[in-house]
Amino acid sequence: MSQRIRFTSTRGQTPPVEFDEAVLKGFAPDGGLFVPDHLPHFIPDELTDMAGLSYPDLAFTILSRFIAPDIIPGRDLKKLIRGSFEGFDHPDILPLVACPVDPSVLILELFHGPTLSFKDIAMGFLIRVMDYLLRKKGEHLNLVLATTGDTGPAAAHASVGRPAVDCWPLFPLGMITEEQERQMTCLDAPNVHPVGVENCPDGGDDLDRVVLNLFSDPDLKKELGLSSVNSINWCRVMVQSIHYFYGYFRACDRIGDPIAFSVPSGAFGNLFAGYLAREMGLPASGFICAVNANQTLFRAFSSGLFKKEDLIPTLSSAIDIVVPYNFWRFLYFAAGRDGQTIRDWMDRFHETHEIQLDAETLAAIRNGFKAVSISDVRTLETMRRCFSGPAPYLPDPHTAVSLAGALTLKPDFPAGTRIICLATAHPAKFPRITAQALEGELPPPSAVHPSLTRNAKTFRHLRICRLEDLETELIRVMRDKKGATHG
Ligand SMILES: *Cc1c(COP(=O)(O)O)cnc(C)c1O
Repeated sequence: MSQRIRFTSTRGQTPPVEFDEAVLKGFAPDGGLFVPDHLPHFIPDELTDMAGLSYPDLAFTILSRFIAPDIIPGRDLKKLIRGSFEGFDHPDILPLVACPVDPSVLILELFHGPTLSFKDIAMGFLIRVMDYLLRKKGEHLNLVLATTGDTGPAAAHASVGRPAVDCWPLFPLGMITEEQERQMTCLDAPNVHPVGVENCPDGGDDLDRVVLNLFSDPDLKKELGLSSVNSINWCRVMVQSIHYFYGYFRACDRIGDPIAFSVPSGAFGNLFAGYLAREMGLPASGFICAVNANQTLFRAFSSGLFKKEDLIPTLSSAIDIVVPYNFWRFLYFAAGRDGQTIRDWMDRFHETHEIQLDAETLAAIRNGFKAVSISDVRTLETMRRCFSGPAPYLPDPHTAVSLAGALTLKPDFPAGTRIICLATAHPAKFPRITAQALEGELPPPSAVHPSLTRNAKTFRHLRICRLEDLETELIRVMRDKKGATHG
């Protein structure tokens, strides 16, 4: 019998809570991130049995070890999982395909969900679970999130038809692609309220500040039922660990084969999920943390200096992130689950924007992890190279970062190691970058997607607001709405 998992905080000052509370709260009340008090472990015999499962069955096997049946009974959990993935447009849900330029590299496509990015994988499940738990309790939440591209569309789409939540994706007006904007604003859903925000010199960072402000007032949080679905939410990280098992099983001949993963990394949620999979027993031989010109993670792995610098806009905009907040979870495990240490480091980082990791912690984070920084020039070159070979494959710019990372660091792995690159977005989301990469070559059919073509001809509905009025206006409309429903 495995022991029931409870959730504590990386800052060590939150008494353990059950799964439902960790998911509905998002942030731990002490300002840390929720982490499980222990992890399930799968022995090789169990892994062999899991290797033949479909993605939904594998998801159930893993998730049911985290979620006790008195919180979500197995039958309901199965239904929630099935519902979360039935909108995916590939029978394998996450197909594994060959890389056209190197037979030892594989590509795991995580972008077959409704909004064509890997954010759909966990968001569909998270919002369904929130809606399920809230309805049981007779409660309602306002999900407020800042987005620079993919999180907003995934959250908006997942909220359609789930009356226990209202979704408020905030985006910097004119700073995301039209395709991404329309994925939020062309939905016909009374509980989805996209807000385009004018006058954001620092883009998403400006919006993050407003969201943090809203959340830092406990009375307001309670009054308006505010919560968050960004990758601070434990549920997203947990669901993302499944695709490492699935990719490994699809690629291996037998459990134990040397297989590594290359991951285009921004907030470090996806890669931290890979670490969790390894901790749960998956014999992955290593992980590549592939970043663009924003090098916070690269520096941390190279020298132990975890330092925030100014944001550099790049072609792989979803990973233009200078504070990868899931790195705190990773550091928490690397530093032996010591909340006091994380508290000291977090406080120092907030004050001075940098910390230097000690030699022991640096060795711990480097165990099996390598980092690489890929320039925009390299990104375009990789897209072109994959497309112009004998078996053309068009990666999106983020997938190109993980491919370039794998091709660069392959010599560092023992001969015979295969590398699975995580493909995190559909190329149709970035038509202008594709055109730039292909230099006038005719774009392939995979450069467009019917859902985006349809959106281009649909009414948009959105609110527009100036940054300086955003907080007051959000509070006002949420109060009005609450009055209208309950008054
Ligand atoms: C969010 C995102 C990433 C980065 O994932 P993290 O968990 O933030 O590291 C990479 N690629 C795409 C396309 C994304 O939307």
